[in-house]
Amino acid sequence: MVVVGAGECGTRAAFELREAGWNGPITLVGAEHSRPYERPPLSKYVLTGSEGNVEPPALYEDGALRDAGIEYVAAATVTGVDREGHEAVLADGRRIPYERLLLATGASARRLPVAGIEAGGVHYLRSRADAIVLRDRLRPGARIGVIGAGFIGLEVAAAAAARGCAVTVIEAAPRPMSRAVPAAIATAVADRHRQAGVDLRCGLAMERLTRQDGALLLELGAPREAPGPAVQRLPHRRGWSGPAAEPHTYTVPRPSEALPLAFDTVVAGVGAVPETALAEKAGLAIDNGVRVDDRLITSDPDIFAAGDCCSFPHPLYGGRRIRLEAWRNAQDQGRAVARNMLGDGRPFAAVPWFWSDQFDLTLQIAGLPDAAAREVVRDRPDGVTIRFGLGDDGRLLYAAAVGTGNAVAKDISLAEILIARRAVPDPAPLTDPAVPLKTLLRQAPS
Ligand SMILES: Cc1cc2nc3c(=O)[nH]c(=O)nc-3n(C[C@H](O)[C@H](O)[C@H](O)COP(=O)(O)OP(=O)(O)OC[C@H]3O[C@@H](n4cnc5c(N)ncnc54)[C@H](O)[C@@H]3O)c2cc1C
Repeated sequence: MVVVGAGECGTRAAFELREAGWNGPITLVGAEHSRPYERPPLSKYVLTGSEGNVEPPALYEDGALRDAGIEYVAAATVTGVDREGHEAVLADGRRIPYERLLLATGASARRLPVAGIEAGGVHYLRSRADAIVLRDRLRPGARIGVIGAGFIGLEVAAAAAARGCAVTVIEAAPRPMSRAVPAAIATAVADRHRQAGVDLRCGLAMERLTRQDGALLLELGAPREAPGPAVQRLPHRRGWSGPAAEPHTYTVPRPSEALPLAFDTVVAGVGAVPETALAEKAGLAIDNGVRVDDRLITSDPDIFAAGDCCSFPHPLYGGRRIRLEAWRNAQDQGRAVARNMLGDGRPFAAVPWFWSDQFDLTLQIAGLPDAAAREVVRDRPDGVTIRFGLGDDGRLLYAAAVGTGNAVAKDISLAEILIARRAVPDPAPLTDPAVPLKTLLRQAPS
């Protein structure tokens, strides 16, 4: 069993292969130099922590790989797959034979496609190495420009503000996190950023970035897709997890907004691109990621793919093909794919789940927000609002909420069970905060 990519998914899969009873050799190949680590802390406490607290947690305890009999080949890139000979080929020419191969190659930060970028100074955040360099730039008083108000951009903005930087966020869409989060939740998060002094500007795109007297000058314009006059209606970009949504209105910048902004550091958080180069070279089918079936098998029956790099049909959403960039999905698919590599043959059907921490707020989403036909809300007496998305047939398709600390975790996790059971809850008790959500579980088929 050979696993390419020692991130969340690949590492989890390697351990699961052993736990599921595979007695033969397991090889885990990872391109990064460091020991496999958790990625989500990179945009959270790795950026804000004190000097002694900058390492992301390792994915396993010391000695665990050795104890499990997993051979870890670090700082090695798989550059080819000899499908006929069943061998993974490393950049240094080494060849590792496989019976079954897993591609868990993840994703990389999307690069900014704008003029003047050769001026340099743009930071991205995907790896431990990126975080260590960026952390050093977040000094009190530093002028930090963040391009993109998605999860990574906003988490970086929150970390930078917490460290006393002067932070400006530029977002092309009319609101933050437009790809994955219901509007009301995005508004609450945006308010929190503005309250903390973050200058959050939406409906504007980066035009050009140049360097002048040690500063980076950022020129703004209307979003690149918007031609001509003052107001345009444009189709929304493809989401992190699905197809196009409703059109939005973009406005061209007022003259004051069109003035260049000066920054010491610019960070781009403009999405991630699935790492498909190896799969493409091997001639595997690609479709917004490495294309797999519901058992996470690629177009080659001996090669599997899982985690951020793959797109798969989701049975809870009518078989719609999605690609998730989410920590828990990487774990869930890591476990599921290991068992399927050993012949389990079970469809992958876990409910998508995502969280983000910004300042003292945690937002959580179970399910797919863009799948719902309408939204109903439960206003809890503690001020937290849980938003539920229902399909045309009344089926619960998502639940989302934002709150401090652990305030939303329990309700979202109960909603997740309802989504998994394809529950069609009566909206009256669903929205009534006096009715514990738990009681709805009794009415939903298990
Ligand atoms: C800064 C940051 C913050 C995040 N925060 C959250 C969060 O709050 N909540 C949430 O749900 N998700 C979050 N995520 C997303 C989550 O971390 C990812 O979904 C998860 O790490 C995906 O795991 P993966 O194993 O599929 O891919 P990755 O973690 O990207 O791992 C893939 C690994 O494969 C290696 N690799 C690629 N190609 C090759 C090759 N040819 N040969 C050898 N090795 C190769 C790469 O170097 C990499 O180490 C965050 C991500 C980032 C970057």
